[in-house]
Amino acid sequence: MKRREEMTLLERLYFWEVFKGVVITFSNFLGNLAIYLCQCVGLCKKKRPWVTVEYPDQVTPYAPRYRGRHRLTLKDDGSVKCTACYLCATACPAQCIHIEPEEHEDPTVEKFPKRYEIDTLLCIYCGYCVEACPVDAIRMDSGIHPEVYTADPRAFIEDKQTLMQRSIAVQKQGPTEMLSQHLKRMQNIEKAPFSAK
Ligand code: SF4
Ligand code: SF4
Repeated sequence: MKRREEMTLLERLYFWEVFKGVVITFSNFLGNLAIYLCQCVGLCKKKRPWVTVEYPDQVTPYAPRYRGRHRLTLKDDGSVKCTACYLCATACPAQCIHIEPEEHEDPTVEKFPKRYEIDTLLCIYCGYCVEACPVDAIRMDSGIHPEVYTADPRAFIEDKQTLMQRSIAVQKQGPTEMLSQHLKRMQNIEKAPFSAK
C-alpha cells in the first residue's frame, strides 16, 4: 500500500491549496447566508443550512450503526476471545493494529494475543477490523467517540487491557452511561486534559 503520496509542484507551493480552502470556506459561508436570508422572507423553508455542532456541549443523535471506540470481547471466564489470527491487522488500512501472539497453556486453545494494541491516532474508524474478525473478538459498539488523551502520542495507543476493560464497562454501565461520562470529560478537557482510558 502506498503510504504517502508525493505532492505535486502546485501542492508544494501551498498557495493553490490555501486558495482552494478559502474558496470552499467562502462558498459554504455564502450558501448558508443565502439560505438564511431566503428563510427570513419565508422561502426555502425545507432547505437545511450547514451547521456547526459545538461538541461536546452539543451532540447530534448517532446512527444505529455508528462505529465508536474499539473493545476486545471476552469469553465467559473473562479471558480474551481473540485468537491472534492477524486478520484484523491484515485488513486494517491504517496499519495501526499490533499483535504479538503467544501459545496458550490450555491445549484446546491454539494461541492468544500476549500483546494487542491499536494506535487510535492512526485509526480511521473504518470498521474493517470488526468485519474481518472470524470469531467476533473485536467490536466498535461502545457508542463513544475516540478518547482525547495527553499531548504525548504514545498515550493514544490502546492496549489489550484497555480494550478488554471496555468490554466490561459496556456490560456494566452500557453505552449511554459511557457516552455521558465521556462527554463530561471532554467538557472539562481544558481543566483536566489527562483523561483515563
Ligand atoms: S477501524 Fe479501521 S483503521 Fe481502525 S483499527 Fe479497525 S481496521 Fe484499522
Ligand atoms: S481480533 Fe479477531 S481478527 Fe483480530 S487477531 Fe483477534 S481473532 Fe483475529
